[in-house]
Amino acid sequence: MESSQTRAAFDQHEHDHRDCIDAALTVAQEICARDGAQLTKTRRRVLELIWAHRKPVGAYQLLDDLSRERGRVAPPTVYRAIDFLLDHGLIHRIESLNAFIGCHHPRETHTGCFLICRACGATAELEDPKLDRALNDAAANLAFQVERRTVEMRGLCPVCAQTAEGSQFAH
Ligand SMILES: [Zn+2]
Ligand SMILES: [Zn+2]
Ligand SMILES: [Zn+2]
Repeated sequence: MESSQTRAAFDQHEHDHRDCIDAALTVAQEICARDGAQLTKTRRRVLELIWAHRKPVGAYQLLDDLSRERGRVAPPTVYRAIDFLLDHGLIHRIESLNAFIGCHHPRETHTGCFLICRACGATAELEDPKLDRALNDAAANLAFQVERRTVEMRGLCPVCAQTAEGSQFAH
């Protein structure tokens, strides 16, 4: 089953992705103002680059991107910017890929649950408060104190599942 909504979740639908990036930057500005934090030029640019990639992107790639624009950039510059963006909920870390992706609804407190396409890398964040609650309740039922949660599902996105190429990536 595929609809424009499923493609939108993976950012694969026909659209001007610049609008997504601009919207994310605007929200980031608002959140930083709310938190009394500074969205410096570097932090803003790193966020913009993460969004521009559309798929989870690693710190080394971001370092490359930034160095291409500015000349050699020290790794801590990028790591600090990433930490800032994580702290303010503007991006998520995809643990299984050691990569980062922009959050589509950073205003709400949540832990991301992700669907990751093993063929093309497209990633969607599940936005379902019921899911959050169910996991928390299940852990609480076992008197378990959750400190960190990683929910990442690997499979095929709607586009790859539909194309013959999708199966060629199987391994
Ligand atoms: Zn987009
Ligand atoms: Zn999110
Ligand atoms: Zn895919």
